[in-house]
Amino acid sequence: MREFEITTPLNVEITQKELINAAARSMGVSPKSVGDVRIIRRSLDARGKDVLYRFRVEGYLTTENPVDKYVKINYKNVEKGHPVIVVGAGPAGLFASLKLIERGFKPIILERGKDVHSRKFDLAKLNKEQIVNQDSNYCFGEGGAGTFSDGKLYTRSSKRGDIYEVLSQLVLFGADKDILIDAHPHIGSDRLPAIIENIRNHITEHGGEYHFNTRVEDFILDGDTVKGVRCAGGEEFTGVAVILATGHSARDIYRLFAKKGWQIESKGFAMGVRVEHPQSLINRIQYHGKYQPFMPTAEYSLVAQIEGRGVFSFCMCPGGILVPASTMPGELVLNGMSNSQRSSKWANSGIVVSVEPSDIPEYDKYGVLAQMEFQSAIERASFDFGGENLCAPAQRVTDFLKGRLSVNLPQTSYVPGAIAAPLDEILPKFITSRLKQAMLVFEKKMHGFITSDAIMMAVESRSSSPVRISRDAESYSHVTLKNLYPCGEGAGYAGGIVSSAMDGINVASSIK
Ligand SMILES: Cc1cc2nc3c(=O)[nH]c(=O)nc-3n(C[C@H](O)[C@H](O)[C@H](O)COP(=O)(O)OP(=O)(O)OC[C@H]3O[C@@H](n4cnc5c(N)ncnc54)[C@H](O)[C@@H]3O)c2cc1C
Repeated sequence: MREFEITTPLNVEITQKELINAAARSMGVSPKSVGDVRIIRRSLDARGKDVLYRFRVEGYLTTENPVDKYVKINYKNVEKGHPVIVVGAGPAGLFASLKLIERGFKPIILERGKDVHSRKFDLAKLNKEQIVNQDSNYCFGEGGAGTFSDGKLYTRSSKRGDIYEVLSQLVLFGADKDILIDAHPHIGSDRLPAIIENIRNHITEHGGEYHFNTRVEDFILDGDTVKGVRCAGGEEFTGVAVILATGHSARDIYRLFAKKGWQIESKGFAMGVRVEHPQSLINRIQYHGKYQPFMPTAEYSLVAQIEGRGVFSFCMCPGGILVPASTMPGELVLNGMSNSQRSSKWANSGIVVSVEPSDIPEYDKYGVLAQMEFQSAIERASFDFGGENLCAPAQRVTDFLKGRLSVNLPQTSYVPGAIAAPLDEILPKFITSRLKQAMLVFEKKMHGFITSDAIMMAVESRSSSPVRISRDAESYSHVTLKNLYPCGEGAGYAGGIVSSAMDGINVASSIK
């Protein structure tokens, strides 16, 4: 096998014949000796005169067997299998459940929120009437936090084997197979709910169980061994193990651990604002003025090191919209989502600063929950500035940099609306001063990023978990509570859809 690269202009389809000829040239053989060609990666290159697709291709001789990257899984019928309680139906919980079925265990999924279809009505109420349902919102409900998102499927993890296991299953359940080769794959919030529903049907057809509107409140213990869980409605579920995949917004779970003295740790996270630009501007900058409507909507990824802390763009949503990701009344949290076409006229992204416990000594009194309480306090401050209608406190980027209140604001995709407010008074100085310096660095990387047409809104605070639920590195089980498996982003071992799903697979693989 020989790996080689080939490029084509964006609007030109590459043919099988061209791929075979390129493979033959790269291997120094005649096209007849080429048995197969496989595109393994497709990335966009806008650096040169033309915008190109850059393909990484594997060429095989007729004498060689091609290696299939698509991971095919044999699922068992687990109706009579040993039950494993899976708390949370986000990517971690769902991919853990699929792995459990493959291994012959019966997943019993307990989810505080509603099924993905019913969840949509609560999101509509949240946007239009600003009613926050504490169990059904952008973070809670079937599919977890990633369901109504951009559905970006990137991860920094280098364990590609596991990534293909996640991507292959997403394709099996309805995602476009291009996600297997795209350098920056994404699905989109219009396609994700159907995929989540297909996963549910698959799990139940194989003998797994779902219980919606079922919030876990406590564990059933025998000494230091977890036997099951107790739910808000009084129901109890027992199993051979409990996978705890409740995501980074389940503050009640962190409080439960702190109250009972079960080991958790404070963890660094990042906080800042959401910035929204006209997408046409981002297209112009990123494509160096060569953007054409048939080209993918442009994205960006920015990072700067300012006074010992990372400042970076987070969860960029090209052609997306801003949404209220609050999980409690009286708090305001912003996040972004896009549809599969990324077709809105806005580009938004979190611009966040890493926060360490040493930045917030006044929260030391909260012990391991210090970072979480800080996160919660800033979300309440954002709400107070924005008001009952979940309006987002906002400034034009240029006004924020000059430290003046905006007289008026540009149009925004955020349905509840924006209200001019001094972000300097909502976010602490150690964040705003770094944001200001970082914006100047970003402007050098993307000329035009600083513009009065861009708006900054508070607050982007749920970038990752501010708490880690301590687990053993090899067994994946909690350090003191036997048979309890903290999992995914909420446990502090993952961030994003793919890495949370991969963590779910790893955890479910380790259950004996
Ligand atoms: C609007 C938005 C857009 C995003 N966009 C992207 C993106 O494009 N790409 C990306 O990689 N990541 C994105 N993310 C982040 C991503 O969604 C998370 O990293 C990922 O979902 C974490 O997976 P998880 O399974 O660990 O937790 P979660 O997805 O948070 O799932 C946890 C689940 O547990 C349930 N739960 C919580 N507490 C309890 C309890 N006590 N009892 C029972 N159930 C409980 C919740 O209801 C939830 O369904 C986005 C997040 C949001 C909010």
